[in-house]
Amino acid sequence: MDLKEYWSDRSHSRDFKLIRIGFVAVRFRWLVSLLIIGIAGWIAVDWWVLDSAHFKLLWKVRLMTGVMLTPLLPLSYLCKLNRRWMVLSLFALLTVLLLFNLVSLWSFRDVATMPTGYVAFPYFLLALLAVLPLPIRSGLRVAITIIAAVLATDYWLDSHTLSNGKLIERVWLLLCFSLAMLWVQTGQLRMLMDLYRESTRDPLTRLMNRRLFMKQFAMVRHSSSESQPYTLILFDMDKFKHINDAHGHLMGDEVLVSVATTLVDIFGPDAIVARYGGEEFAVLLPNTPLERGVLQAETLRLAVESQPIDNPLDESEVMVTISAGAVKGHNNSNAAELLQWADDALYKAKSQGRNCVVAHE
Ligand code: GH3
Ligand code: MG
Ligand code: MG
Repeated sequence: MDLKEYWSDRSHSRDFKLIRIGFVAVRFRWLVSLLIIGIAGWIAVDWWVLDSAHFKLLWKVRLMTGVMLTPLLPLSYLCKLNRRWMVLSLFALLTVLLLFNLVSLWSFRDVATMPTGYVAFPYFLLALLAVLPLPIRSGLRVAITIIAAVLATDYWLDSHTLSNGKLIERVWLLLCFSLAMLWVQTGQLRMLMDLYRESTRDPLTRLMNRRLFMKQFAMVRHSSSESQPYTLILFDMDKFKHINDAHGHLMGDEVLVSVATTLVDIFGPDAIVARYGGEEFAVLLPNTPLERGVLQAETLRLAVESQPIDNPLDESEVMVTISAGAVKGHNNSNAAELLQWADDALYKAKSQGRNCVVAHE
């Protein structure tokens, strides 16, 4: 478990960030819808419970709050595209709701015991916000904003002091609810991360699978230009069927894991390395001219060729080789066409006797 991933979204991949924000945006929209219905619908409860003076003021406050929350519904569609919109929307939501809390408590300043529904509102808010899969840092910011606003409201209305038992009880309860909110939020984030990994990673090699590779491919194509080309390389193990037949499937798996590790080591963190198919790997090198890409593919080929792989079942070692087809791409290139050209080059490498790298002209 990597704590950094739970603390903030900085270490999340761009793809996961977009997926999480999309998820948060949908939940945010539901949350706002429920709040609008709930806050306006509560007017009926107030009508039964409150005296007419309070009711006369509070039904207008509730209606105003509902109206102020409504623009957040269309805004939530923009949240899907950008984290900044998400932060802005969340901030606007908290501002409106904390203002509602302030005005409603102020209206009861002369009453000995406030209605429970109004006293419980901040706790209710913390509980509702637990539905958002936020990293701990963002969750903490939300909790601190709510706690600070509630305490400021209390202080302003009652001039409480820190020694006051009521204040201590309030802080304690707010902290308990905040912790519960953070716990649920982190749990949801973890579930989302686990599901994302399962659907985008190859279980054997832990490289990204073809689905995520195609998404990343589209992003690289989008951000590249004629002057900043990228290189696409398809790798295919040589005579892999023979390795399975001669040494068993377990050894075949071991070879795939070992080659995947070598691929990641040689191409480095900027490369997009995927298990493309059974014994095929795809590598995308952003901002890399074809000549440099071919040189790196050649380095990988030599590393695979010279590295004996231990058989997990006995003391024996197996030597394997790999062939590659490389192609140069830029943003005008068509993905299917590029993959076909890389495959053509790979086919050429196989027909030239395997264990070599061929570049598409
Ligand atoms: P070539 O040099 O022409 O590529 O020959 P090849 O034997 O590598 O090619 P072929 O496509 O005939 O065989 C690929 C083999 O890879 C067949 C399949 O059993 C094996 N394979 C695919 N996925 C896995 C896997 O996950 N584990 C193991 N052990 N073998 C796999
Ligand atoms: Mg193959
Ligand atoms: Mg093969």
